[in-house]
Amino acid sequence: MPSHALYPKLFSPLDLGFTQISNRAVMGSMHTGLEEAEGGFPRMAAYFAERAAAGVGMIITGGISPNEEGGHGAKLSNATEADQHKLITEAVHAANSDTKICMQILHAGPLAPLDPVAPSPVRSRISPVTPRELDADGIQKQLYDFANCAKQAQIAGYDGVEIIGSAGYLLSTFLVEKTNRRTDEWGGSFENRMRFPVGVVKQVRAAVGDDFIVIFRIPAMDMLQGGMSKDEVETLALAIQDAGATIISTHFTWHEAMVPTISTRVPRAAFTQVTGRLRKILSIPVITSNRINTPEVAEDVLVRGDADLVSMARPMLADSQFVAKARDGKANEINTCIACNQACLDHTFTGQEVSCLVNPRACHETVLRPQPVIEPKHIVIVGAGPAGLSYAVTAAERGHRVSVYEARDEIGGQFNLAKRIPGKEEFEETIRYYQVMMQKYGVELHLNTPVSVEDITALKADHVVIASGVAPRHPNIPGIDHPKVVGYMDAILGLKPIGERVVIIGAGGIGFDTAELVSHAGTSAALDIEVFAREWGVDFANHPRGGVTGVEPQVETSGRDITLLQRKTSAIGKGLGKTTGWTHRIALDRRGVKMINGVDYQRIDDEGVHLLRDGQPMTLPADTVIICAGQEPVRNLYDELKDQGISTSLIGGAFESHEIDAKRAIKQATEEALII
Ligand code: FAD
Ligand code: NAP
Ligand code: SF4
Repeated sequence: MPSHALYPKLFSPLDLGFTQISNRAVMGSMHTGLEEAEGGFPRMAAYFAERAAAGVGMIITGGISPNEEGGHGAKLSNATEADQHKLITEAVHAANSDTKICMQILHAGPLAPLDPVAPSPVRSRISPVTPRELDADGIQKQLYDFANCAKQAQIAGYDGVEIIGSAGYLLSTFLVEKTNRRTDEWGGSFENRMRFPVGVVKQVRAAVGDDFIVIFRIPAMDMLQGGMSKDEVETLALAIQDAGATIISTHFTWHEAMVPTISTRVPRAAFTQVTGRLRKILSIPVITSNRINTPEVAEDVLVRGDADLVSMARPMLADSQFVAKARDGKANEINTCIACNQACLDHTFTGQEVSCLVNPRACHETVLRPQPVIEPKHIVIVGAGPAGLSYAVTAAERGHRVSVYEARDEIGGQFNLAKRIPGKEEFEETIRYYQVMMQKYGVELHLNTPVSVEDITALKADHVVIASGVAPRHPNIPGIDHPKVVGYMDAILGLKPIGERVVIIGAGGIGFDTAELVSHAGTSAALDIEVFAREWGVDFANHPRGGVTGVEPQVETSGRDITLLQRKTSAIGKGLGKTTGWTHRIALDRRGVKMINGVDYQRIDDEGVHLLRDGQPMTLPADTVIICAGQEPVRNLYDELKDQGISTSLIGGAFESHEIDAKRAIKQATEEALII
């Protein structure tokens, strides 16, 4: 079926008067690390061009600072820097003359690492540095620098700029009282507090003329206690419109806010209702965003009238062909962003180059290039977890003949456990994607087929890939075979009863997930916007200050008494994802889960778990003890096949079980399948 019948709104053009956007799909801004990397611009050009060629209506680049004080590397303030950007704009326009590309201007303000500036010397909770207060001349300089940066972007060939006025960066810190304590014309009343952001838009418009897209990213609901009120947001939006913005893009949250807004535990399109309300009072188009990861959801948002354009940032990392597949009626082939943040945002916040857990080619388009094979091989893969599946699909797409043998009755490996955790339902999408792609590329799949060395040898394959994953570790604690001891697999699959008093041994990712599951009751917040709002204390309907002021979070719990244990003395949950770990800790804390570190296990018996802490004996009464003590590789087949001289490789958890996650498993498998 043609795209216009399936997603008529998504694929309708938007007329801006002086130009048109060919469809409503916007690739939202993401800092990738390539902005500052040596040789990063040609890689960025290829990364954006691949998405443009697939038909994205408008691309917004990662944030570029207008001056030294505004950022941590990439800046645009002169002609030499503008020349570098021409690589991007020329590549995008050559790939698709209909795609618009706008550069985001990001002045980090108090979040800049060196010599940060701000309206007032108020340190952010997430920054180690107190910013320097801008004096009147300093403010004028910033205004000039924004206008100059926009002009340079225009010279570089961009179709427009996006000015970020949210997230705790410079512009937004003028807007709220807690970060703007000025008593001059730039502080005090809301009219004064919005003077700087509105001034930026006016100066930018004056610098670039009428026929240039100027997008303003507004903090539509900042999720801050004492943040912006609904009236203030509306007043600002109208003033920004009057100042000459072409489009307003709604943003939710500051980086320091305590509500998750993009992680996998957030329901799809949870925030678009806020954009929808704002859209009603504006005459210029609005962009909405956050957890819109399928064309169906994007279309629904547009049909509801919540927005004129839909920004999908991470979904375009996960699948560069998102728009083309939707357009061509092949949405089931889209590799869906599961909102894990593991290879994108977590990388940004730990200074690593961005990529994508489900698509390691993201931001590596020039490095990882699938080439058709000249002499196809017959490849046998043992194990249909994330590693085996990504190897199978990548190798088969290149032209190899691939057969996959899986012991269980379903593909997906441990993702079948992950998807059962409340808040991780999206993991099912990855399994769906592989299922569809295996069919598309003719991978032969044998379920319910645990294979032995003899079975494999009889297949006479050209190459064997062992992707047999991991087995749970059985720690050597006296009483480990007591009937009340349950492995995490049985606990998650519901194969063993779980009592009222639960002790969990091991506080890694799986310990946390298991605690989330057994402490949970009712509907998963990730599947219901109202439950999400209740759990995280957000009042979407009334929009008190920040959307959260005075709203108490309320969670439903299973009522179980749960304790999570770890031997290390480090903080529990320290190893979890940089941008999501805090949400896991808060979620368990609100459900009353106790966490104890620095323990030395003594034994498990009828009473419960006996341990030493600081040398002192302690007994934790327990009806059920769940073991989440890490894993060991399953690699016996590999060793035996190697001994027989059979061409064999080892990937995923079977290769290295220590800290194995899907990001590493899929990356390794993809890289190896690209070169066989
Ligand atoms: P596996 O997923 O273990 O797959 C191996 C497959 O091989 C299995 O299907 C098995 O049945 C099959 N097999 C084994 N032996 C044979 C044989 N002889 N013949 C045929 N088939 C065989 N990772 C993340 O990155 N992010 C997360 O948020 C995350 N959450 C998780 C939550 C839970 C509850 C769990 C349990 C894991 C989670 N993980 C997460 C970890 C992630 O799932 C694993 O790292 C990943 O699945 C490893 O992939 P793999 O393909 O190497 O192994
Ligand atoms: P893990 O993160 O390595 O944690 C294992 C836990 O078991 C640790 O708390 C460890 O801490 C404890 N442990 C290890 N050996 C033990 C022993 N002999 N006796 C008792 N305790 C022992 O592994 P995991 O939780 O099994 O997770 C596996 C992988 O899946 C991880 O690498 C993780 O990245 C991934 N995963 C990720 C997420 C996510 O949200 N990103 C979620 C789930 C899983 P002590 O030794 O200090 O007790
Ligand atoms: Fe989405 Fe995870 Fe990929 Fe980031 S790493 S784009 S959140 S699937």
